[in-house]
Amino acid sequence: MGKTFPGQIRLMDNPRPTFPGEMALIEALAREFGTPPPPVVLGIGDDCAALAVDGGRYLLWTIDTLTEGVHFDLSYMSLAQLGWKALAVNVSDIGAMGGEPRYALLALGWPPQRDRTGALELARGLQQAAREFGVAIIGGDTVSSPGGVAITLTVTGWVPEQEMVRRSGARAGDLIHVTGVLGEAAAGLEILKNRVKLKPAMKDPLIQAHLTPRPQHQAGRLLARRGLATAMIDLSDGVATDLFHICRASGVGARLEAERVPASPLVKAAAPLLNQDPLDLALKGGEDYQLLFTSPPEKQGALFRAFTQAGLPPPLPLGEVTAGDRVLLVTERGEEDISGAGFDHFRGGAVSS
Ligand SMILES: [Mg+2]
Repeated sequence: MGKTFPGQIRLMDNPRPTFPGEMALIEALAREFGTPPPPVVLGIGDDCAALAVDGGRYLLWTIDTLTEGVHFDLSYMSLAQLGWKALAVNVSDIGAMGGEPRYALLALGWPPQRDRTGALELARGLQQAAREFGVAIIGGDTVSSPGGVAITLTVTGWVPEQEMVRRSGARAGDLIHVTGVLGEAAAGLEILKNRVKLKPAMKDPLIQAHLTPRPQHQAGRLLARRGLATAMIDLSDGVATDLFHICRASGVGARLEAERVPASPLVKAAAPLLNQDPLDLALKGGEDYQLLFTSPPEKQGALFRAFTQAGLPPPLPLGEVTAGDRVLLVTERGEEDISGAGFDHFRGGAVSS
């Protein structure tokens, strides 16, 4: 997930990118805060901040907030699922740097009118994710939140200095890969929002993808350890937006081949029933929490061998890094500029251009 700040406006229909100009807002805030002091080696503008506080490895530090009515709706999401997701999206950011997640602090805003035992249900989901991802919840804060449940987690992790993968390392000629199929979470959200009736075999996995995403930090760690990725980001806002973040940070462009964009088979099957284009769900849907990374062409053999040996599904190639500054989608109709086109596509406009 991108760096977020208190007070960001987010709409339920468009939960990831905030409002047109989010990138400009973050850049303005970064200017306000100025250059961070040493030992900060990476400040605003990547998936995590990184600090050189322990010889040989960087401390990674990330934060994310999920707010009721903006990011989630408790009429179709349980509190346990919310707890799981709040940790999963943070772990995904640690994974996007090639790091290993370690500790988390929780800030929980709880509506006074809501039964307090629900907070324990949320904690159970959170602790289940923590066990699964190797994270310890070590403290936090609870406050009254009359407007709805709000959950903020900050998570730390470690990465060896030489292995950290930034957004800024992509070079023209690198190949672009993703760690898994795309569009399932966005299709799941469509089903939930519109109460679409589909066969359980089709809808259940899509809904699960939205409610309980599985971060790919093990793949991120593998890529970092073996030096196989030049740049990496986790897919919170969709390929069109998140790849554009890599392009801006790296000073490059990208070309994606529409026929290679890996919309999941379930998404292809469900999309017509949801009045959606599977390619749009895959490129612009958001919340996949797969890792998108660039890798030099000469390392492709080593890349696929490493994933096979680790028992991970092979990465899926979908395009290449170019010398330009835009994200272009190549279809049979020609080239389309999709730079930053994220979730806002569903609202008829691009997040940024
Ligand atoms: Mg991220």
